[in-house]
Amino acid sequence: MTISRRTLVLAAFAVPSTALVPSFLARGQQSCGLVTPADMEGPFYKAGAPLKPSLIEPDSKAEKLIVSGLVFSMSGCRPLAGIRLDFWHADDKGTYDHAGFRYRGVVETDAQGRYRLETNLPPPYMGRPRHIHVKTQARGGPVLTTQLYFPGESRGADKSLIVRPGPAGPVRTVLFDFVL
Ligand code: FE
Repeated sequence: MTISRRTLVLAAFAVPSTALVPSFLARGQQSCGLVTPADMEGPFYKAGAPLKPSLIEPDSKAEKLIVSGLVFSMSGCRPLAGIRLDFWHADDKGTYDHAGFRYRGVVETDAQGRYRLETNLPPPYMGRPRHIHVKTQARGGPVLTTQLYFPGESRGADKSLIVRPGPAGPVRTVLFDFVL
């Protein structure tokens, strides 16, 4: 199923057709494997981040990053529309914005269960591997608080929280599917 879903996500982004995802998943026969595991919240979450698809700061020298994928329900393995993902991460100096909402923002899945976050690649900091924090929740479900890690720099992290490299291009792209 992992390969199928990866193929699906790549296909969904390569071809802007809304028909791909539902036609594949509507059969409801796929297993989504495991629910995305939780990971520590850390001390820097701040509630109330605005809905904004891009966290990119024009003055940042950090590489641009696009994180995208699907949010699935564990039951029936169906893509979930209208799911909010509240992301936060460190800036290029490894610090979090406590005064405002730099590198803090909410994105929502579309009708096909897809989300997309644009941001600047955060650095490793304070001995921790590079990571992006996120909170999300299916309707009526528990809040999932977790972190996404990067291949080759994820020491100590649950392997299922490591993003997959996305298509090559001018901007670094990574893929990650959530199962709630
Ligand atoms: Fe952190």
